[in-house]
Amino acid sequence: MEANYERTRYEARMRLRRKKKLIKAAKLLSYRVIKSLIFIVIGMILGFLLAHKTTGTPSEAENLTSLAPKPEIPVVSDAPKKIQVLLDPGHGGKDTGSEAAGTPEKTLNLSIALLVEEELKNAGIEVEMTRSSDQTVSLDERAALANENKVQAFVSIHQNSFKDDRSIRGLEVWYNDVKSSGAAGSRKLADAIHTYAKQTAGTSDRGTVPDEKLKVLRTTTVPACLIEVGYLTNTTDKNLIFSESYQKELAKNIARGIQEFLQSLGTSAE
Ligand SMILES: [Zn+2]
Repeated sequence: MEANYERTRYEARMRLRRKKKLIKAAKLLSYRVIKSLIFIVIGMILGFLLAHKTTGTPSEAENLTSLAPKPEIPVVSDAPKKIQVLLDPGHGGKDTGSEAAGTPEKTLNLSIALLVEEELKNAGIEVEMTRSSDQTVSLDERAALANENKVQAFVSIHQNSFKDDRSIRGLEVWYNDVKSSGAAGSRKLADAIHTYAKQTAGTSDRGTVPDEKLKVLRTTTVPACLIEVGYLTNTTDKNLIFSESYQKELAKNIARGIQEFLQSLGTSAE
């Protein structure tokens, strides 16, 4: 009985000790858990603030990721259109050129060039003009426009005159085949235009003329030629040049020659 009592007391003491140990362990554990939770919460707040800061302002990382391939979205290009043909109505503005019956050469040149432009546009060719109205444009500006745009053909349109002999009449196509760039193409362009232009009803043909002096032919680095439609000092030529139907047919033929030249570029190295 005594021994049982002693054992019971001992067991009770041990139970109490274990209970105290457990409480102590639980206290210690909860303290550690709270401490860890505080650290986690502070960490999360700091992480959020940092993430917010980097997305708020463009960072190096973002700049680099922008180099990664993006989904393809069709973009309208701002690049200038490729000009195939640059038409150059001779003279303009203060520079009137020659004249006949009170009409300056510049006006006749523009009238024919606009008709050629229309023909080429109808054929789907990218064509531009050195002037589309009565403007003063220098020869340097005309050549620069052709060279900077690397046009495939530069075609200048003029009217001739020769007061010393008014019987002289006919169409001429001038070109420079000795310049450093575009020489061979210039001869080919002149030949192609000449072939068709001379077929215009009523035209007298004076052929193609190689020339080293004319500035627009010399300073252009692309295939270039200059058409002298006829002589304003000759009555027959003057009447043709002033005729609307002649201008239209001639413009059609000039455009045909230009088109043939452009097609030849696709089949031969120039
Ligand atoms: Zn002229």
